[in-house]
This record gives sequence, C-alpha cells and structure tokens, in this order.
Amino acid sequence: MADHYEVLGVSRDASPEEIKKAYRRLARELHPDVNPGEDASERFKLVTHAYDVLSDPEQRQRYDMGGDGSPFGAGGAGFGGFGDIFETFFGGGGGARAGRPRSRRERGQDALVRVTLDLKDVVFGTHRDIEVDTAVLCETCDGSCCQPGTQPVTCDICHGAGHVQRTVRSLLGNVVTSQPCTTCQGYGTTIPYPCATCQGQGRVRARRTVSVDIPGGVETGLRLQLPGSGEVGPAGGPHGDLYLEVTVAHDEIFSREGDDLLATLEVSMPDAILGSTATITSLDGDVDLEVRAGVQSGDVLTIKGRGITPLRGGNRGDLRVGVQVVTPTKLGPRERALIEDFAKKTKAPAPQLAQFHQGLFSKLRDRLRG
Ligand SMILES: [Zn+2]
Ligand SMILES: [Zn+2]
Repeated sequence: MADHYEVLGVSRDASPEEIKKAYRRLARELHPDVNPGEDASERFKLVTHAYDVLSDPEQRQRYDMGGDGSPFGAGGAGFGGFGDIFETFFGGGGGARAGRPRSRRERGQDALVRVTLDLKDVVFGTHRDIEVDTAVLCETCDGSCCQPGTQPVTCDICHGAGHVQRTVRSLLGNVVTSQPCTTCQGYGTTIPYPCATCQGQGRVRARRTVSVDIPGGVETGLRLQLPGSGEVGPAGGPHGDLYLEVTVAHDEIFSREGDDLLATLEVSMPDAILGSTATITSLDGDVDLEVRAGVQSGDVLTIKGRGITPLRGGNRGDLRVGVQVVTPTKLGPRERALIEDFAKKTKAPAPQLAQFHQGLFSKLRDRLRG
C-alpha cells in the first residue's frame, strides 16, 4: 500500500494545515467530475483515504506507529473499532465468501519508532531502552477475549459457518449469495461474556520498554528490524515486528564520509611555521597529533582507526583532519614591526597565480559548511 504521506506529497512532520492544503489541491485536480479518467479516480480514492487518516490526530498517530494499513502494517486492521476490522476484512462490499469462519486470532501490527542518535553513538554503537505505546496480551483472559470461566458459543444465526446464504431475485433468475454473518462478524461464534479488562479484544494498550543494541555505523534513514517486538495480535495473535528508524543528529565538529570522520584543524601561523603537537579532542578522547613544521592550509592529517565502526563489522575508519592556517588579524605595533622585519629578511615573494586549489581540503570545508 502506498504511504499516505507520499500520496499527499507532504513530509512526515507536516502540520494539519499543510495536510489540508495538499488534500484540497489534489482533490480539485483529481475529482471524478473534473477528471473522468480511471487513473484519476483511483488516485482520488487513495488521496481521500490518506487525508481521512492523516487529518484525524488519533488515526495519524496510530498510522505513524505502524497501524491502519501503514507500509509497516501486517495487512490486518488497526486496534480500533470492530467495524474497521469488518470493513477491511470483507472489503465492506459484503462480497461472497465461502469456506471456514475466520479466526479472531490475527498477527499484530508492525510498529515504527524513531530514535535520534549522536555521532558518538554511531562511532561505537549504543544501547537504548525505548518506550513504545503498544498492545500487550490481556492477562485477565490470556487472549481468549472471554470472562474467565466462560467460552465463546456457536453463533445461532450461521450455526458456526461465519457466513449466511441469501437468495436474491434477479433478471437471470434466483441467485444465491454468501455474505458474512453480521451477528458473529464472520467468526462463527459469539462471546456472551466478553472480558471486562480488554472489552473482548484479548489485548490491552500499554507502554512497554524495549531494550535495543544499536550497532555502530548506522545512518539516517536506516531501519533496524526487531522481530516480534511489535504489538500482540487480536485475541492473543502473534506479535508484529518493531522497526527502529534512525536519525543521526548534526555534529558541530565532525562530519562523516563513509566510515571516516572529517574535521578541520585550525593552526596558528607560528605553529604552522615551527611545527607543534596538537591535542585533539576526538570522539575517543584526547589524541596527540604531530603538526610538522611548514604545514600548509589544505594538508590532510590522518589518524588511523579513530573513525566509525563499520555496520558490517571490520576495522574502524580513520579520522581525517584538514589543516587551516589562521592568519593573525590583530597586531600591535611591535608584532607588526617583527613581521615586517621577517618579510624583509626572508625576501617573501609577491603574491602570484597558481592553479585553483580543488583538493580534498576544499571538499572537507564544503562538507562542514553544508
Ligand atoms: Zn481480556
Ligand atoms: Zn454467525
């Protein structure tokens, strides 16, 4: 099923106004009165359904959590009303359906939870306890949906078949149609004494904590699948899966290129001329870095093995530091005289043209600015 946000062409954090605007625009464009094509009519239905879900805060939240036919859904109906389940299951059209009655037990929905990580978490991997709003097995009835000590009984109307046959007169003679039994909603049984704790659903809403080990090397947009950590199904059906979608927060100093970390090292003019040892605060803690005498802006110093732990395992990437020599801007008369003396003594050449510098360093800088 198409993603409701994509159908409306809005982002996942769109405001209710943005959603309404997007819907109005698409509805005008695709309305069957304006646009009689079959394609447009199908899209109109999709757009309208997407709007119905996303314009209702409760339904939207459930959709974001993986309910109501979201791309993460298992294909069942949401935890909401029984009517929804009925509609979804039978397509609302009351179409013919023969065979066995359907089971109350269904697989639970998958759920999606978003987590924001620091770059440091990505370098080493991390552990999180994540709170999820989910459905858990009802402990009162253990998923049977019945008050303890009671049982479902065979439906009087369909005698357990889950569907009833009806004879309809038509131009072609009598036609027998099979329709889901409305008394038992197709289950073949009814529950005379529904469990009071779960209102006969076999499960209840609860907040649950899920412990997750997040490996190093993950990227924004990556989804980790935690099988069986989604909600429990209706009537104690099997659990759905939980998906954890990762966002990596912007870091003020370090950026990422593959499994390498990139940063800029600002070096004073005297240090660049004379050389020095810089103590760098890396994500691993302090590292001493030798800055050789005569280092130039654009030189890249590599610290092996201080980058990111690859997602698929193996050695860590490197930390690559681009040097930027900082020209002093505030000089007193004495410093000025010293520099002038230095310029005279070293016969510093006049500025001259050379090829435009498009090295790794400028890429590093662009990345940091971006
Ligand atoms: Zn119960
Ligand atoms: Zn029935």
